[in-house]
Amino acid sequence: MKIKFLGAARSVTGSMHLIESNGHRILIDCGLFQGKREESNQRNKTFPFDPKIIERVVLSHAHIDHSGNLPNLVKQGYENSIYSTFATRDLCLVMLKDTAHIQKKDAEYLNRKEEQRGLPPIEPLYSAEDVDETLSLFRGIGYLKGFYVAADIKLTFYDAGHILGSALPVFDIKENGRNLRLGYIVDLGRKNLPILKDPELVKGIHYLIIESTYGNRLHEDPRTTESKLARVVNETITRKGKIIIPAFSLGRTQEVVYNLHRLQDQGIIPHIPIFVDSPLSTDVTEIFKLHPECFDQEISRMIAQNENPFGWKDITYIKDVDESKKLSQVDRPCIIISASGMCESGRILHHLKNNIGDPNNTIMVVGFMAQDTLGRRIVERQKKVRIFGEEYPLKARVEVFDAFSAHADRKELLEYVENTKDTLQGVFIVHGEEEQSRALAEGIKGLGIQNVIIPALGDEVQI
Ligand SMILES: [Zn+2]
Ligand SMILES: [Zn+2]
Repeated sequence: MKIKFLGAARSVTGSMHLIESNGHRILIDCGLFQGKREESNQRNKTFPFDPKIIERVVLSHAHIDHSGNLPNLVKQGYENSIYSTFATRDLCLVMLKDTAHIQKKDAEYLNRKEEQRGLPPIEPLYSAEDVDETLSLFRGIGYLKGFYVAADIKLTFYDAGHILGSALPVFDIKENGRNLRLGYIVDLGRKNLPILKDPELVKGIHYLIIESTYGNRLHEDPRTTESKLARVVNETITRKGKIIIPAFSLGRTQEVVYNLHRLQDQGIIPHIPIFVDSPLSTDVTEIFKLHPECFDQEISRMIAQNENPFGWKDITYIKDVDESKKLSQVDRPCIIISASGMCESGRILHHLKNNIGDPNNTIMVVGFMAQDTLGRRIVERQKKVRIFGEEYPLKARVEVFDAFSAHADRKELLEYVENTKDTLQGVFIVHGEEEQSRALAEGIKGLGIQNVIIPALGDEVQI
C-alpha cells in the first residue's frame, strides 16, 4: 500500500492524506490550510489529485484544519461517502456553514477593495449550497463499530479525547496475503480533560501516522485549571471588575462553561452572570447536548441528576446583535465568553475595546494565540493595542492558562507510541512545525523504534 502526505506535512494546518491499497483510494481528512492569504488560496483551491478518483473520505474530527476543505472537494466532483462519527457530522453542519459564511464576507470585502484597483473579483472557495451537498454525503459510524469502507479495508473509530466526536481512525487492511493495521493518531487529545472521555490506547498497530503539535512541550495537568479559574474569578469580583474570555467556539467555550458551572455549583465562585456572546458558540453548545455518548463519567453523573451542564440560571447565550450590544451597559461583575479565539474578528473585539482599559478587569487567555494576532499582543502584555484601527491602553489584568490544551503533549505522545511498540514497524510524523516534529522523532527513536519518518508535503511512501 501507499500513503501520500498531502497536507499538514511539516506544518500544522490543512490535514490531508491519501491511502491507496488494492486499487482503492481513501482520503483521510480534507482540512483547510491556514496561512498567508496567497498561499492559502492556492493550496486550498487546487487539489493535488482529481477529486473524482477518490473512493471514500474518512474524517477524524470537525476542526476546520481537518474538515474545512470538504465542500470544495465535493464542489470539484467528489460524490461518494464521507465517514465520521455522529457528533463530528453534526458539528460539521455548523462549522462548515460558518466557514462558508466567513468566506463570502471576506470575498465581498476584498472585492470592494479590488474593484477600486480594477482587479478581477475574488471567488469564495465554496458556497452554503456546497456545504449542504457535502453534508448529504456524511455517514455516521459509532465508536468501536468496525465498518468496511472498501473490500479488505476495515475502519474502526476509537475515541481521541480531543474535541466532541473526535476519533482516531484505525484501518485493518488485507493486502497480498498480509494483514496491516494503520493508525491515524491525529489529533490526539489528553487524559482528564473536562467533558470528554480519555483517548483510547489502540494496540497492535503496525504503522502510525501521529501528530506532533506539541512534540517538544509539556503541558500543565488539566486538573489544575479549576483552582486557577476560581482564583482569577474571585480576585476579579473583589475588584468589582469584569472577566473577558476570548475562546474558540468549538471545545474551549464549552470547557470553560462547564468548569464555571461546577465552580458555581460547589459554591467556590459566587453566582454572577455569565454570557456566551457568539452565535457559533451557541449553536455548537446545542450540538454538545445531543451527544452524551462522548461524555466522561463526571458530566454523565451531572446529567443523570437532571442538570444541564451547559445551561443553568446564571448563564445566557446570545445570538442577537442588539442583545450583544447591551452587554456594554452591564455595570457589575460578570463573565463574558466570546469569539474569535485569537481576537482577530467577531464580537470579542467589542468586549475588549470596552474593557481592556480598566485595571479592575481581567482578560483570561485560555487558548493558543498565534503570532501577529491581537490575542498574542495581549499575552505579551503590550502597553497599547490596536482594536478597530484605534489604540487602547492595555490596563486590564491578563491571566494565561496553559492547562487548557486539547492536544497531547510530548510525554503523552511518546506514551502512545510506546503502548503499541511490540507490533510497530514504522511511524510517520505529521501535524507539527518542523522543530516539534524533529524533537518527537528523536524521542520515538529513543524508544528503540528506528523507522521514523517526517514526510515533506507531497511525499509518497510504500509500506
Ligand atoms: Zn483538532
Ligand atoms: Zn488539527
